[in-house]
Amino acid sequence: MKFSDIKSTTPYLELENIFFDKVKATPLKKPFFIAASNDAAKLLGVDENLYDDEKLVSIINSQTALEGSDSFAMCYAGHQFGYFVPRLGDGRAINFGKVNGYNLQVKGAGQTLYSRQGDGRAVLRSSIREFLMSESMHGLGIETSRALAIIGSDEDVARERWEKGAVVLRLSPTWVRFGTFEYFYHSKQHDKLERLADYVIEEPFAHLKNQENAYLLMYKEIVEKTAKLMAKWQSVGFNHGVMNTDNMSIGGFTIDYGPFALSPILNQEKMQEVLKGFSSVFEETYLNIMYKKLGFESKKEGDVKLVQWLLAALGSSKVDYTNFFRILCHYDANREELLALANLKTPLQEWLEAYDERLKEEKPAPNKFINIKLSCSS
Ligand code: AMP
Ligand code: MG
Repeated sequence: MKFSDIKSTTPYLELENIFFDKVKATPLKKPFFIAASNDAAKLLGVDENLYDDEKLVSIINSQTALEGSDSFAMCYAGHQFGYFVPRLGDGRAINFGKVNGYNLQVKGAGQTLYSRQGDGRAVLRSSIREFLMSESMHGLGIETSRALAIIGSDEDVARERWEKGAVVLRLSPTWVRFGTFEYFYHSKQHDKLERLADYVIEEPFAHLKNQENAYLLMYKEIVEKTAKLMAKWQSVGFNHGVMNTDNMSIGGFTIDYGPFALSPILNQEKMQEVLKGFSSVFEETYLNIMYKKLGFESKKEGDVKLVQWLLAALGSSKVDYTNFFRILCHYDANREELLALANLKTPLQEWLEAYDERLKEEKPAPNKFINIKLSCSS
């Protein structure tokens, strides 16, 4: 099927008006195709090359609509840099609807009710970054929204200097954020909070539908998924640029573990109990990834220390983490290539000695270092 032949539904619009602003996008001037991810398109059931789809640009630029779609911006609040902002919302993102379990959204598509002083635009530079970063995060096995395609334009957009406007079409199992819950919590609309929780149970938590205690089970999953996500981020050195609650998906893409948004509809003591599980899930997930990166298939006493020691040694030797783990993938006890990365050799040298000792406890593989090669990632 071609992308332009897909059919969309708009279940979010079945919520009350307060959840969204029904708004039309403002098309960019002279739009042109930049790049697309056929891999992301498969999630929608699209199996034809996006590069051949002559309607792709006009759909992303909102000049042509997908069948069954309608456009709207979502309302949410958020804690930003420690302060609560009672109303944010999609100020430059416009949703088209849902296809195959994925919600389609164009970022940079013009002003909405929630734009405040903003122009509703995204510039080419940041759009390319989002397109590449989200697809590479997916490649690293980390839960993320996906980017289907990016278009550029001749539209001038004012930032620190004049830049050109662009739009990314992105996909997510849900665009509901921690901040969406905060909006209804802080505006004391607790019936809407319940409605939102029910909606979310239809979206990424559909397996919890009709279960007793569905809210608590959902909350437990949010805590666990978020803890795992943080561990995964940390294991590849990913830093979220703006980790505010309006930027944290309820589906386990980002984090805030303040248990208060949901508190009017859940027992707080139970929530605190569930939240205690955060650190153990985080730690276990993080260490398992780090062991894999070090090529350990067995778990030995002292491995935690070895991981902590490595991070300290990389820091004091001023070694680039990504390059270090890439080279470690073909490490064969010849330390030269690794040590060449270090400004200060001794801390890394000492760690490598301990590492070589530890490797002796691994089962010998047919090729003696194949364990490391196979399990290593950066
Ligand atoms: P961010 O820090 O990008 O997550 O944005 C925080 C809030 O500001 C969200 O409500 C965005 O929709 C909004 N926003 C960011 N940039 C713009 C823009 N250029 N025009 C309108 N709203 C924007
Ligand atoms: Mg945001």
